[in-house]
Amino acid sequence: MNIIKKVPKSMIGGSSVVSKVDHIGIAVSNLEESIKFYEEVLGLKLHGTETVEEQKVKVAFLPVGDTEVELLEATSPDSPIAKFIEAKGQGVQHIAFKVDDIEAALEDMKAKGIRLIDEKPRYGAGGAKIAFLHPKSTNGVLIELCERK
Ligand code: ZN
Repeated sequence: MNIIKKVPKSMIGGSSVVSKVDHIGIAVSNLEESIKFYEEVLGLKLHGTETVEEQKVKVAFLPVGDTEVELLEATSPDSPIAKFIEAKGQGVQHIAFKVDDIEAALEDMKAKGIRLIDEKPRYGAGGAKIAFLHPKSTNGVLIELCERK
């Protein structure tokens, strides 16, 4: 028998640093083919694409509920996405959590001893301010903090 321990609703949220999963970042080797899968098989609709020069990626957004699938294709062999695929193959590359104030969230992470990849927020697709936490501090998950206007 499975015993599920339920936490009272009053104990959930409140002082949380993050408010929702903003998007899930998936590394793909062919953006067009991958978009087809999400559109034709899962029935999602492409919201748009953008090339982020700084990170050497082409990004496609497919909203689902109040979050998004973010497909990432490398535009250069030295892109972090190319390196990720080379090491691990295609797949989930990062999970992005929405924050209201990314500078404050980064200060909070620093105070908690979390190793940061980005000490300062940088430009993310769609005009978001983003910063990554190091997987060594997050049990192996590349976590992105994401602030949107
Ligand atoms: Zn992302």
